[in-house]
Amino acid sequence: MSTFKAIVIDKTTTGQNAALKNFDESELMEGDVTFRPEWSTVNYKDGLAVTGKAPVVRRFPMIAGIDGAGTVETSTHPDWKPGDQVILTGWGCGETHLGCYAGKARVKGDWLVPLPAGMTGRDAMVIGTAGFTAMLALMALERQGVTPDRGPVVVTGAAGGVGSVAVALLARRGYHVVASTGRPQQATYLQSLGAAEVIDRAELTAAPRPLGRERWAGGIDTVGSVTLANLLSMTRYGGAIAACGLAGGMDLPTSVAPFILRGVSLIGIDSVMCPQPVRRQAWARLSTDLDRQKMAQMSEEIALSGVIDAGRRILEGHVRGRLVVRIG
Ligand code: NDP
Repeated sequence: MSTFKAIVIDKTTTGQNAALKNFDESELMEGDVTFRPEWSTVNYKDGLAVTGKAPVVRRFPMIAGIDGAGTVETSTHPDWKPGDQVILTGWGCGETHLGCYAGKARVKGDWLVPLPAGMTGRDAMVIGTAGFTAMLALMALERQGVTPDRGPVVVTGAAGGVGSVAVALLARRGYHVVASTGRPQQATYLQSLGAAEVIDRAELTAAPRPLGRERWAGGIDTVGSVTLANLLSMTRYGGAIAACGLAGGMDLPTSVAPFILRGVSLIGIDSVMCPQPVRRQAWARLSTDLDRQKMAQMSEEIALSGVIDAGRRILEGHVRGRLVVRIG
């Protein structure tokens, strides 16, 4: 049986350890499609997994990597045949199922989506779970009636992965985007993605009041905690905030005031178990709604051997935009 290179996380007496090593194909888990990931990404969750900073990995040994784009090698699933170009994000890959920082991955065919026409595997992984989540959040705001004419929209953690794609997507749809960042040196970058205003995230970290000045019609929040509480208290009558992240904390110290006095909605966004029809719709929109030049601006390419260090950097908040991983 053949082996391939992979980022493998093993359990140790003191916790866990991640390393680039050879992995035996016979140890791959059950699945009806085996594909060759050619590109992957580093998301915040990948950072948590490879550093062991949070108990993301629930099976050992684990191949890390929650996202992959590549080519089908073998399949007994009716939808897929050898040579098909596919995208995989979420479904517990890199957590409970062996993931995509690897020369091979074996998964359920039901988890895969086809690479949209005109998109390369590298493009798909510049987007990755982060960009897919940003699109799910945009679609949720649209369903809630938050259209560009309703007023500004705020994006928190704007210089991060989800944030960067969210800024670019919203700006392209014609929204007036307020980008909140803790890195003022990234203001020019955020403006180049389409942000109309860049604010210091410190404006959103004071102790939240039940209701604040109405500043935006909606928003996409990647930070959680007091930031999300402040966002809600500053949302205009009838507006909505799509919450997808916890980079600032898992708590939510808010009150019911924005909901019952201003009719504000809080929409939860989950990318991991997102149903197939919504996935396909989101990827179809990502293939048309995201400017390729902006994708290039927001991405940095690294090799598989750079993933563990990149995982540390993303948790320290030092990564700008998206990291795309070349496998092979
Ligand atoms: P990144 O690390 O790329 O971006 C996170 C950004 O949040 C940072 O760049 C920084 O932005 C900001 N930030 C970091 N720490 C803090 C802090 N302590 N207080 C306030 N802001 C902070 O991560 P991703 O974009 O990949 O993910 C963002 C969040 O979304 C994570 O919590 C992740 O787990 C979650 N997520 C959830 C998904 C879902 O399905 N619900 C899917 C994908 C991600 P800046 O420097 O601009 O201030």
